[in-house]
Amino acid sequence: MSSPPAKDDGPCLPEMQDIWNLLRFEAQEGRIWLDEERVVLLRSNELRGLRRELIDALGMQRAKGLLTRMGYISGKMDAERARRLRPDASLFDVFSVGPQSHMVTGQVKVIPQKLDWNEQENYFHAIFDWENSFEAEIFLSEFGAGFEPVCWAQLGYASGFTTQFMGRQIYFKETCCTACGHETCRIEGRLVEDWEDAEEAFRHYQPDRIADQLFELQEQMAELRSRVDAEEHFGQLIGSSPRFLEVRDLLSRAARSKVTVLLLGETGVGKDMFARALHEASDRADKPFVAVNCAAIPRDLIEAELFGVERGAFTGAEKTRAGRFERADTGTLFLDEVGELSLHAQAALLRVLQEGELERVGGSEVKTVDVRLIAATNEDLDEAVREGRFRQDLLYRLNVYSTTVPPLRERIEDLPDLISHFLDKYGTLHGKTGLSVTDRAMTLLREYDWPGNIRELANVIERGVILTDPGGQIEAAHLFPGFRGQQDEEGDAPEQRPLSELVAGAIDAGHPLEAVEQQLIDAAMARSGNKVSGAARLLGLTRAQLDYRLKKRQDAENS
Ligand SMILES: [Zn+2]
Repeated sequence: MSSPPAKDDGPCLPEMQDIWNLLRFEAQEGRIWLDEERVVLLRSNELRGLRRELIDALGMQRAKGLLTRMGYISGKMDAERARRLRPDASLFDVFSVGPQSHMVTGQVKVIPQKLDWNEQENYFHAIFDWENSFEAEIFLSEFGAGFEPVCWAQLGYASGFTTQFMGRQIYFKETCCTACGHETCRIEGRLVEDWEDAEEAFRHYQPDRIADQLFELQEQMAELRSRVDAEEHFGQLIGSSPRFLEVRDLLSRAARSKVTVLLLGETGVGKDMFARALHEASDRADKPFVAVNCAAIPRDLIEAELFGVERGAFTGAEKTRAGRFERADTGTLFLDEVGELSLHAQAALLRVLQEGELERVGGSEVKTVDVRLIAATNEDLDEAVREGRFRQDLLYRLNVYSTTVPPLRERIEDLPDLISHFLDKYGTLHGKTGLSVTDRAMTLLREYDWPGNIRELANVIERGVILTDPGGQIEAAHLFPGFRGQQDEEGDAPEQRPLSELVAGAIDAGHPLEAVEQQLIDAAMARSGNKVSGAARLLGLTRAQLDYRLKKRQDAENS
């Protein structure tokens, strides 16, 4: 459309005194103006520091986006001034207000190389060379030569100015930059649709919602942290069997909410450990965790224990005391054996769950508490409801989120981990390290039914630890006092006859107990090649125990 005046290779910029005249210094007033717009003189050192901080804080790409958009805005403002400033000039000269404003403000020297546009044909193509780019200069002095052009704000200015001036989306790219070691910086502008990689190349012109992203990331962090916390706390519970993991997962999901949790399962399965882990993984972790075993407190005292008591409420109530609920305020209360509560106590518990209110025994003041309740029972509460021992409405309240902790026999694959945990624990406690369990003992542990579950396992292992020397192996007889070995180590024993049959046979034959024991010991000694330790293992005895028996027998024979 317009054919700009050319000088040598490219079009030549017009006189720019008019722009220079826009600059007014009001030193007495502390102001500088560019036309109607207030400007400030910034030292390049300040900008260098700012750029460094931006890059450090946000990374190269975000800093680039920020500075590019800053330049874009000021380019757009200068474009609005251009036509007003040179109303009668050629289109090229009006356009030149952009590059020349850049020059007057001391940012860069612009040398047009090519400016080719056609509004009808929707065409725009421009090439400018930049000399003395201040951005390249401060980048070089701060970071040294890089691989990417760095004249971000200036480039944003060119894009903003041209886009506003032409009324079309026009973006510039910097194809050479002195900060990359080129002799001069060079920029090239085209209609956005003419850039094949526009979407990628100009993404940083889009405002970057850093704050939103930070908030989002923060939320994700909190979420992750809570999951890690849950993982960590529940990780203290030992086990990797599917049944165990299922329960652990279910509970870790409930941890962050205030939902009342009901833990079911046989006695000794570790409901208390799960309750503790649930608390530790909740946002109440730094608040009190109060555990009450309802079965361990006399029925007529349980209400005073849970809800507190006013002085003189009954004989023995000599001073006013806060109950466990009040002590657990803002934290978690774990009510074990909840099926043991009296009906009266159940009514009071229901009130706390429904209203968050309680009254101390013998008091009339209503107190409010914020307590997360975890209840546990090994009882069938439905059955208790049918028998009139447990309130149906309370069961509904408790049963919101319930799960059954599996008995040990249903997660027997966790046994090795549990055993090694208890070996460590009781080994440390009793000053014995390096303990292990014989294969035979392990087989027995696996075959056992564990009616007392993990608590029983803990007791059994502790017993074994006490009976075994440091660094030794815990034998079957250490674990189960009544155990008598029936199989030999190789497992090639003839077909087993039930013990009862053998016993019946011995009685029928009139063998006295002593003779039976004698024979057993003799057989074991023979089978182990007269080695006492081997025979003791076969018999499920310690060496000391067998020694004692052998000696007794020898004494008897000698007397
Ligand atoms: Zn550059």
